[in-house]
Amino acid sequence: MPEQPHRIVVVGGGAGGLELVTRLGNKLGRRRKAQVTLIDKRRTHLWKPLLHEIAAGSMDLGTHEIDYLAQAHWHGLTFRLGGLIGIDRGRRQVRVAPYYDAEGRQVTPEREFGYDTLVIAIGSLTNDFGTRGVKAHAIALETADQAERFHTRLVNACIRAHAQPEPLRPEQLQVAIIGAGATGTELAAELHKTTRQLVAYGLDRIDPDKDIKIHLIEAAPRILPALPERLSKAAAALLERLKVRVHTGAPVTEVTAHGVTLASGVSIPAELVVWAAGIKAPDLLKDIAGLETNALNQLVVRTTLQTSRDEAIFAFGDCAACPWPGHQGIVPPRAQAAHQQSSHLAKQLRRRIAGMPVREWRYRDFGSLVSLGDYSTVGNLMGKLIGGNLFIEGWFAGLMYKSLYKMHQYALHGPTKVVLDTIARLITRRTEPVVKLH
Ligand SMILES: Cc1cc2nc3c(=O)[nH]c(=O)nc-3n(C[C@H](O)[C@H](O)[C@H](O)COP(=O)(O)OP(=O)(O)OC[C@H]3O[C@@H](n4cnc5c(N)ncnc54)[C@H](O)[C@@H]3O)c2cc1C
Repeated sequence: MPEQPHRIVVVGGGAGGLELVTRLGNKLGRRRKAQVTLIDKRRTHLWKPLLHEIAAGSMDLGTHEIDYLAQAHWHGLTFRLGGLIGIDRGRRQVRVAPYYDAEGRQVTPEREFGYDTLVIAIGSLTNDFGTRGVKAHAIALETADQAERFHTRLVNACIRAHAQPEPLRPEQLQVAIIGAGATGTELAAELHKTTRQLVAYGLDRIDPDKDIKIHLIEAAPRILPALPERLSKAAAALLERLKVRVHTGAPVTEVTAHGVTLASGVSIPAELVVWAAGIKAPDLLKDIAGLETNALNQLVVRTTLQTSRDEAIFAFGDCAACPWPGHQGIVPPRAQAAHQQSSHLAKQLRRRIAGMPVREWRYRDFGSLVSLGDYSTVGNLMGKLIGGNLFIEGWFAGLMYKSLYKMHQYALHGPTKVVLDTIARLITRRTEPVVKLH
């Protein structure tokens, strides 16, 4: 009997997971040196940092989605559809929930998959910290469906306001974004641009400067609290020029059908509320199979990315709490970190299969970039080469921002497709609508 190849199961095909299985499939799966399986609760992948552009309507989902089955076919791996619901560490099995289609018909039953090495990369969800009314009245930007739902509501709000004979109600055409981290700040600038473009498509009874109001609400004393102060000041100055209303030091106590209430008692009317404050790992991870988790449900891992209580189970990306030696706290939940971890793990899992010890991973912080729509990009570059922390803004910063996504595409498709796609986009750019209208 031929020996069964080592079974690597990766749960979660996001910014980190899909890069990892693609690399492993190319190197091991195709050569039958390992059996590589990806499990995800969705059928398609979208790189999460694009969600605010989908929500604002400046990007078309169909152009950027990747079908897991097709990716699996081309890169020597297997894709299995379904959400992780349990792990049996004794039998080395993961349990996956049944999958139902949009009409509620069952597509796949509850199933179990065996592993020799398991990697958990199921990302994070927004953390509403139990704030009243968030679940019922606010939209989170966690999935492509939510981003599309927000966009549809935005377009409908503009069409409704244009068509109604009576004056606008106080909350109409007002958007409240709660959380001024990178996601909220980028969304505010992007929405400023796309709402103007939307109105220009004939909704001439709306005066964008007078009628559309975007509020960015942050509990901390400044926007982009996790980033250097200079960066935060530059972004705040730009938002001010765009007349985005920035409320800092303003914790939210409740979200209602008509707007947002702040701890100070002030009410901000809004018909569209986006919750973009804080993250936590999915609740299902809390103490899963006796593994160690922190207060945010993240799996506690060592610097080798192995979970603290089981060397055969790795975790990375937003759902993992990974030490960051020499720094306060853990590695931040960023696409940049997930990308670096996936490259590291792809090499280390090959060593593990060969019976060699896995090496430690160190996060290299290259800085942060915040895209403010077409208006500007601000950021800082970090590293020994540039001698510390360099503030950047404008065209060069924009180019660096785009390069993050290009690196993701490169990991998934290789150089030829990335170059050809870039050329095709440059050629067809002028013929595409500047804002999605549905
Ligand atoms: C709007 C927005 C903008 C952002 N912008 C930036 C940015 O500019 N720069 C930056 O560095 N970072 C940015 N981030 C953060 C970045 O997107 C995340 O850090 C990154 O996506 C984390 O990658 P991941 O692989 O851990 O998880 P994800 O990319 O979230 O992928 C998780 C995957 O797991 C799947 N999954 C979830 N639950 C289950 C389950 N139970 N079973 C099976 N599969 C499951 C999901 O379907 C998904 O495919 C942004 C995030 C958002 C929301």
